[in-house]
Amino acid sequence: IVILGIETSCDDTAAAVLYYLFSDYLFLSIKEELLAQYGGVAPKMAAEAHSLVIDQVVKQALENANMEENDLSAVAVTIGPGLSLCLGVGVRKARQVAGKFTLPIIGIHHMEAHALVARMVEKELKFPFLVLLISDYAGSLTDRRSTSGGHNLLILARDLGHYVQLGTTIDDAIGEAYDKIARWLGLDMRKGGGAALEGLAHEGDADSIKFSVPMKQHKDCNFSYAGLKTQVRLAIESSNINMSDPISSASCLDRASRANIAASFQRVAVFHLEERCERAVKWALNIEPSIKHLVVSGGVASNQYVRTRLDHVARKNDLQLVCPPPSLCTDNGVMIAWTGIEHFRLGRFEIPPPACEPEDSVLDLRPRWPLGEEYSEGRSTSR
Ligand code: ATP
Ligand code: FE
Repeated sequence: IVILGIETSCDDTAAAVLYYLFSDYLFLSIKEELLAQYGGVAPKMAAEAHSLVIDQVVKQALENANMEENDLSAVAVTIGPGLSLCLGVGVRKARQVAGKFTLPIIGIHHMEAHALVARMVEKELKFPFLVLLISDYAGSLTDRRSTSGGHNLLILARDLGHYVQLGTTIDDAIGEAYDKIARWLGLDMRKGGGAALEGLAHEGDADSIKFSVPMKQHKDCNFSYAGLKTQVRLAIESSNINMSDPISSASCLDRASRANIAASFQRVAVFHLEERCERAVKWALNIEPSIKHLVVSGGVASNQYVRTRLDHVARKNDLQLVCPPPSLCTDNGVMIAWTGIEHFRLGRFEIPPPACEPEDSVLDLRPRWPLGEEYSEGRSTSR
């Protein structure tokens, strides 16, 4: 099987070609363009930027793989959740490529791809397993409420295409908190606020400021990061009583003080993940006693501190942690191609009509798309 994967749900234009034979796979190529890392994404501008580069990104991915369009077995593309204008660019391209040679086409759920790419890197990872997905909102700033409701998810993956949502964020996702606080602290956002904040936190003392842990009274698996973000903003502002703007307040702080804020925030932000995961392990074992793995994926899973702490949670509960390498944790085309392979193997794809025009509705966009049914403790869920 040779699959082309296309991803344009948010701010990266990514394509990858993946070759799969029985249980062996080979990356043939990856091609990615980064559109924006500044203050969220304006859908129209992002969609225009995707449109400008999509042909080149796909062409390059194929060329690097030494393949042509008619060597492909199928095309996989993200159809949601995400910004509809952006998703549309990838889907149009996928329809165009698939239409030309009547190739099967597979519509991919972006968050399912973040989760399943773990099965590509760890062959022992069999269903069922528990997954923590930690990233950003696909539609931060403008389109937040129109996406699936937040990309801080605890999911029980029972089988391919069968997911139970144990928890989600009730306000912000952890990646948003990292990005916002990084901006307040005046960090270089070009490589992503999260990575910059992680770097600064290394220099700080995590015990220096006592932020309180979110949702202590809620005995569920949901997340909240808005309150913690406000605590951090107030801590920055109180460092300079004349300014009620975190950015100008932080600019008066020395590097050591900013590092202390970063480290103290990171400790509590990740502790909140640990607590919710602990509970989710219990819930998940209740439904599927045979789970052996905890998967952690999404952009924030490239954070080393996050990986170390969640490895600890996994071990304590006799589970094995599976965390894809950072390049596969953040948005990428490989995870789309891989998830395409997973569905293709089971015959789950659509065949476009011959000479299908890009406008033909062979694949519907799903900008809001929950990954699975919701679960709360005590309510049983059956297959
Ligand atoms: P979603 O997957 O929810 O649609 P997205 O696709 O925009 O969101 P991803 O690429 O999956 O986002 O993740 C990006 C997020 O990961 C950003 O918030 C970024 O700051 C965060 N991130 C990346 N590296 C790190 C790191 N080392 N530490 C913390 N956060 C990080
Ligand atoms: Fe993502």
